[in-house]
Amino acid sequence: MTSREQELLGRVPTQLFIGGQWTDAEGSRTLVVRDPATGDVIREIADASPADGIRALDAAVAAQEAWAATAPRERSDILRRAFDLVQAHKEDLALLMTLEMGKPLAEARGEVVYGGEFLRWFSEEAVRISGRYGLNPEGTGRMVISQRPVGPSFFITPWNFPFAMATRKIAPALAAGCTVVIKPPELTPLTTLFFTTLLVEAGLPSGVVNVVTTSSSSSVSGPIISDPRLRKLSFTGSTGVGQKLISQAAEGVLRVSMELGGNAPFVVFEDADLDKAVEGALLAKFRNIGQACTAANRFIVHESVAAEFGRRIAEKVGAMKVGRGTEEGVQIGPLIDDRAVAKAQELVTDAVERGATVLVGGQALDGPGTFYEPTVVDGVVPGSAILREEIFGPVLAITTFTDEAEAVRLANDTEYGLVSYVFTQDLARGHRMIDQLETGMMGLNVGVVSNAAAPFGGVKQSGVGREGGLEGINEYLSVKYTLIPA
Ligand code: NAD
Repeated sequence: MTSREQELLGRVPTQLFIGGQWTDAEGSRTLVVRDPATGDVIREIADASPADGIRALDAAVAAQEAWAATAPRERSDILRRAFDLVQAHKEDLALLMTLEMGKPLAEARGEVVYGGEFLRWFSEEAVRISGRYGLNPEGTGRMVISQRPVGPSFFITPWNFPFAMATRKIAPALAAGCTVVIKPPELTPLTTLFFTTLLVEAGLPSGVVNVVTTSSSSSVSGPIISDPRLRKLSFTGSTGVGQKLISQAAEGVLRVSMELGGNAPFVVFEDADLDKAVEGALLAKFRNIGQACTAANRFIVHESVAAEFGRRIAEKVGAMKVGRGTEEGVQIGPLIDDRAVAKAQELVTDAVERGATVLVGGQALDGPGTFYEPTVVDGVVPGSAILREEIFGPVLAITTFTDEAEAVRLANDTEYGLVSYVFTQDLARGHRMIDQLETGMMGLNVGVVSNAAAPFGGVKQSGVGREGGLEGINEYLSVKYTLIPA
């Protein structure tokens, strides 16, 4: 580890943040955080108990009324200062993510930009929360429609985007006037802890954001979710865990936002610009080492261009540099853990046993660290597990189609519906795809769609609710209607 890395890690808080105080977990229990590129322990931090979780909720509940009563401009200014502080600490945040999660430093910098934009966007939205006023149709009453903060909110975030998944929830909640308890992922909690110091520096009042890190997510989350004082649950993670949380939230009829798994189709028509399709494919597949909910999972390519597409992709993928994300020029860092490596291997083996061909890669790499070669598998046959399950690794799987109707049928043949990518130069066909694909988001001739100004979210089992865009703040507002006799 370099002295710069050690110095940065030394500045990351190691305790829970409750009611404006850094505090030890009950029994001073700790958990360790590792660098997936080396397997080394990089920090030991507080490991919260269920009682600690409830203490955090107590603080959020206590702060709720005053926070909801602050002027929107005050909330906006705090978010704007937080945005500025993120810019000033861009290199710290980026390096921290690379150390705990493994992504290449250049991509970590990109995440700081993306995640920071939610702070700026919602600082602008905080002062635009509006309502309606009008006569009822009978002319007998005035209808006033206003919006109020939902109330104390609980957030559970995943390890793959340690910064952006936190800001995408925290920023709209604060803008709307909600207080927060956040439980960062146990594998990558350091970024959220460091970001919390920036929120404090930006002037956030005590108790408005509370952070509980824990190795036992379900036992800490359960009592918070079933507490009648909680009003909102927002989760980003796998569909399986999301389903459990929705049923827990049903007991208190909580407002829920769920950003769940994906199985994105990447459809390349025979009329596509292949250079653009290849460029889009590399981004859609290999960004974040393939560990993105938006990662293209199934490359559905017209049979007339599939061989050429595969050849060009394999050439680029074979030249990718694999290594620790801090090294110059690295494009593929480690996977998050051994399980992720085993899963990639299993999916490739299953596809090959059913008749697919490995064009490049296809093997786990020797340790230390949990690396898997960037891989292209061609000729994947229907029924292969790789077409049904989230790969969450640097493996690109190609299957073919013969006509447009089959492309649509294959693309929609999944319980997920987060994002779809389509490459075609035929505008009318592009519009037909917008209408026919069952998806919350779509990239037409582009391999990345995320933007703080756009509503991010899925349909089907990819989730409910939207983060970002004009829609994002509504997840934290309740509509109130008042009638006044005219
Ligand atoms: P995960 O579901 O295993 O964990 C997500 C979070 O939930 C973590 O903080 C974890 O500690 C917590 N958790 C796990 N089990 C829990 C339980 N029983 N009760 C309460 N909390 C629990 O997911 P992950 O492996 O961290 O992330 C990868 C998944 O997240 C993928 O499926 C990916 O598609 C999805 N994801 C979705 C989006 C989106 O916006 N749609 C964004 C990023 C990741």
